[in-house]
Amino acid sequence: MQKQKLTKLAAAVSALCLTLSVSAVADDHHHDHHQQPSNQVPTSAAEWFKVGEQAVLVNKRDAAELRKAKNVILFVGDGMGVSTVTAARILEGQMAGRDGEFNRLGFEKFGYIAHSVTASANQQTSDSAPTATAMVAGIKANDGAISVDQNIPRSEKSAEQHAAHSVKTILERAEERGMSTGVVTTARFTHATPAVNYAHIADRDWEADSNLPAGATVKDIARQLLETPYGDGLEVALGGGRSYFMPNTVADPEYPSQNGRRKDGRDLTLEWTSKYNNSEFIWNQAQFDGINPARTDHLLGLFERSHMRYEADRKDDAAGEPSLADMTDKAIKILQKNKKGFYLMVEAGRIDHAHHAGNAYRALTDTVALSEAVKKAKQLTNDKDTLILVTADHSHVFTIAGYPSRGNPILGKTAVDGVALTDSLGLPYTTLSYANGPGWTGGLQRKEFNPANEGTVSAPYAGSKLRPDLTAVDTATANYMQEATVPMGAETHAGEDVAIYADGPGAYLVRGTLEQNVIYHVMADALGWTNNRR
Ligand SMILES: [Zn+2]
Repeated sequence: MQKQKLTKLAAAVSALCLTLSVSAVADDHHHDHHQQPSNQVPTSAAEWFKVGEQAVLVNKRDAAELRKAKNVILFVGDGMGVSTVTAARILEGQMAGRDGEFNRLGFEKFGYIAHSVTASANQQTSDSAPTATAMVAGIKANDGAISVDQNIPRSEKSAEQHAAHSVKTILERAEERGMSTGVVTTARFTHATPAVNYAHIADRDWEADSNLPAGATVKDIARQLLETPYGDGLEVALGGGRSYFMPNTVADPEYPSQNGRRKDGRDLTLEWTSKYNNSEFIWNQAQFDGINPARTDHLLGLFERSHMRYEADRKDDAAGEPSLADMTDKAIKILQKNKKGFYLMVEAGRIDHAHHAGNAYRALTDTVALSEAVKKAKQLTNDKDTLILVTADHSHVFTIAGYPSRGNPILGKTAVDGVALTDSLGLPYTTLSYANGPGWTGGLQRKEFNPANEGTVSAPYAGSKLRPDLTAVDTATANYMQEATVPMGAETHAGEDVAIYADGPGAYLVRGTLEQNVIYHVMADALGWTNNRR
């Protein structure tokens, strides 16, 4: 190209840049220089071309991300692989009556993205313990490991060996520096992903003392929360798993016919309020609504005996449960009181569980709930001083298949302009399916997810051959279980990379194909804990 032409092009680009940055500043007091895509679906070649051109200009952003972060929020969609993000994006758009393919979840508008390699020290496809350990402790570990290194066997029972192999986490280092810290999850608070922040244990299943093997001297996970030696302990702990904190002689407040599961007689919910000043223990929606962040310095909320409800079932809970966005809101308001800053992990823990159950509807609606929580965090914080990362610990064997038309219902049967496509047997099929899991219909059994007992109900499909005939089946209902190729009691994790989305100071470090443990080092560098930052 001639020099004259290049100069002309550069002038045109910088004029457009100026227009974009002026309008971005004008309509957002947080100076979000990442221009959001418009909700207007392009309808011509010229409009598509312009949208593509604008996306490049948006990425030519300033160097604000070189500033130091005061706060870090790490969002984890447990099991939220890229296919889950894509399908959830389409479902959210379609539920709102918009073009689903052009829709974006809140965090998909972040300016920086990278691949995260999720293999653990000893697994090609990993479980949530070493993957979460990688993110918060900065090292790769073995299956089942909660913030301990790869040289301790999963069966190790001694406290001394655990002390020798423990790796300090970002939460513990933040506490040491006088920052505030919190963990929010929809899973049990003692489940792998939340536990890696505050516990060090070779086996993720040792959640209460009654889960420990005979002769173990290492402390169970729930006890480690109360006995953390770092700083003044966590300011916010919200999730499920109440029974792991209560004695087996004490009735549960929500389900009085059932007791806690601790054998040592300790009620850790009472210990929480006696240990900390200005502290509360809560277990239902009304108590949650009554918490004033200005007067609460240490909040423990455990809203179910085990995991909290799926977002799709939250309305059915008698005692009421806050949404992930509501918990994120309360957590940030408590943590923000500390002038030294805060670290917060927020986990959408049940995307993973719904996938294991072969039920795409709940996995996707929980992913949308995570997007809402991220939006809430963006509203409450400033991208000048808060690094927000959104990622997954690992993927699932969940696929979006066939050649459906744009706008075809994502939970529906694959169709072109409303006419169902058929497989080589002449039968319709769904766009979403699993490579393995409980949705296998090889026995020609129609399966439905039963949220009451987290199980499956089944009945024979009528008139089917080799594959069920879905012609008369509404596959978009909440309890529909997508077909799976290989029969398994639980669908499995998948080994491909997951995405990391980043916004705020240090976000520019999130690019390329990163080992998962780099996430810790990005957070530590953004907070100025290394020498690399000005
Ligand atoms: Zn899982």
